Amino acid sequence: MDKTGIIKPVLDASYPMISHGEGIYLYDENGNRYIDGSSGAVTANIGHGVEEIADVIYEQAKQVAFVYRSHFTSLPAEKLAKKLASMTPGDLNWTFFVNSGSEATETALKVAIQYFQEQGIYTKTKILSRWTSYHGITLGALSMSGHHMRRERFSELLEDFPAVPAPYCYQCPLQNTYPGCRLQCADELERAIEQIGPENIAAFIFEPIIGAAGGAIVPPPGYYEKVKEICDKYHILTIADEVMTGMGRTGKMFAIDHWGIEPDIMTLGKGLSAGYTPMAATVVSDRIINVIRKGSRVVMSGHTFSANPLSAAACCAVMEYMEQQNLVQNAEEQGERLLNGLKELEQKYSFVGNVRGKGLLCGLELVNDALNHAPFSVSDRVGEKLISICFNNGLIIYPAFGGVTGYEGDAVLISPPLIVTSFQVYEILRILDESLQELMNHLVS
Ligand code: PLP
Repeated sequence: MDKTGIIKPVLDASYPMISHGEGIYLYDENGNRYIDGSSGAVTANIGHGVEEIADVIYEQAKQVAFVYRSHFTSLPAEKLAKKLASMTPGDLNWTFFVNSGSEATETALKVAIQYFQEQGIYTKTKILSRWTSYHGITLGALSMSGHHMRRERFSELLEDFPAVPAPYCYQCPLQNTYPGCRLQCADELERAIEQIGPENIAAFIFEPIIGAAGGAIVPPPGYYEKVKEICDKYHILTIADEVMTGMGRTGKMFAIDHWGIEPDIMTLGKGLSAGYTPMAATVVSDRIINVIRKGSRVVMSGHTFSANPLSAAACCAVMEYMEQQNLVQNAEEQGERLLNGLKELEQKYSFVGNVRGKGLLCGLELVNDALNHAPFSVSDRVGEKLISICFNNGLIIYPAFGGVTGYEGDAVLISPPLIVTSFQVYEILRILDESLQELMNHLVS
């Protein structure tokens, strides 16, 4: 495969050919070892090569790998849905299974609109989101995403959904400062709702901690409480997109648990299967399902592979493994260690402007002028350079730039598997330190 992402019939050497994975490490066919410091795309939460999961997949494939969701349900799918209902906040008791995070947010969009249609309200067709956000690559999901780089070529095909400023204190889009701002970004949400008309808005979608579009941006205290109050006041559903932040990644099972908020819909993906099989989910509240049940009775969406028993069995095994290994707690503890180490690097390198995050979802933002938080020019591709230097040094980190509307940021994510040990955290920090040193030499030369 070359950088186009297309796999050619004749193998190309642009990317290393992966041979196998074990724990937080990946090995290519030439014997090079890489630390998976980003869990792939923040996905491989339990690490690579876990035999227990492979065994469950094998046993389930022998029994029955696939049934169509409109013909049958299956024990693994029922078990997984029940498990999610017991773990998710509030009355999020109904799960619609899909195959990717993008499908999960597309489904959330449709469920929100359908919920109002079933009640005879046909004007609520817009989904509000935030300027700096990523909710998926398909057209509906991208319409809700403030990810400039991924949108720009397809802008004419996208729905004209409104967006509001993100709670991004380090580069406040409103050029204000917390706490003096008194959460102006939340006030902007209310202002936008009044301007567009609440009768036109079905839902507000947000990543509890902004991931791919900004690099682990954690909102200031009080933000979500205020957001929930505003959305409830105007009868607008809240969709917590936990595709990246869910399943223990941030040191709690769901990132929204840090604020004790109960959304109406939650989307999950990535860590749900930890990469062992494609699987994602849209989890919906009793209130919404009761309305849909009284109306058309079915959620107007679905995919061939939705709720397939093979993926469901793998997800159940992943969750059991997480519980046995106490991985949510490990994410909290190792995340603190990682963030403390990153803060030391922030002190050491002037171009490391800001480090942030929760649990094992950490971000590091590179800037040209730390005093004024001024970014590098986009053409300098400083973030990409750091990623490439780290890769050559055997550490994989993840890009989180190109998402900012109006200005660019060079943020990266450091998000190793939740099994990471203290020793491995220090190994990651050591390579990152060396790589930042290399980047600095490059910047001054
Ligand atoms: N939502 C969020 C918050 C994500 O981070 C992503 C992917 O990075 C998606 C949705 C889309 O998920 P997928 O790539 O599985 O379609």
